Amino acid sequence: MVRALYPGTFDPLHNGHLDIARRAAAIFDELIVGVYHSPPKKLLFDTDERVVLAQKALADLPNASVVSFVGLTVECARDLDAQVIVRGLRNVADYQFESQIGLANRHLAPEVELCCLICSTEYTYLSSTIVKEVAGLYGDVSQWVAPEVAAALSEHFAVNRPPELAAGQEKLQGISKTRGKLSYRS
Ligand code: ADP
Repeated sequence: MVRALYPGTFDPLHNGHLDIARRAAAIFDELIVGVYHSPPKKLLFDTDERVVLAQKALADLPNASVVSFVGLTVECARDLDAQVIVRGLRNVADYQFESQIGLANRHLAPEVELCCLICSTEYTYLSSTIVKEVAGLYGDVSQWVAPEVAAALSEHFAVNRPPELAAGQEKLQGISKTRGKLSYRS
């Protein structure tokens, strides 16, 4: 039986991540999605929220589960008895990053193999950063994330609405109302 660990920040999980998770779950007997507890990144969702969102998005995969972890990914793989670490590659930058970490990990834990899956063409541009930026500006992210992630994002930004953006939106609404009036008159 081969158990694989798919580690990441997943802040939040998007369809590019889901695509990798689904394909990995089809290759390996068991897939564990590992959510980094405290990556060196500024996060939008806390660990529990990221775990729950990933659990909901992956609920239909019977051989997949989600955990959170701290510390080295290879130690997490060892603790979980995972023989393989799965990562997704979008571009050359991802490749450079993953090959460097992968070689370091091989020194740390030679028994843990790295499996990098090339991302599907429709997700090459997609990142959690893009999703958060668009959602933060009240753009529609429903094409990029599971419905529960989209709901969590709109809930987050409804509460944490930047005042300058709210003011900007009111101004824009004012302009479009004026435009509507002008075109009606002409
Ligand atoms: P990390 O902080 O570990 O890079 P991410 O949540 O950003 O965490 O990404 C987790 C994994 O998913 C990484 O292997 C990353 O390359 C991969 N990934 C990110 N975006 C995509 C995408 N659009 N398609 C496929 N894989 C992706």
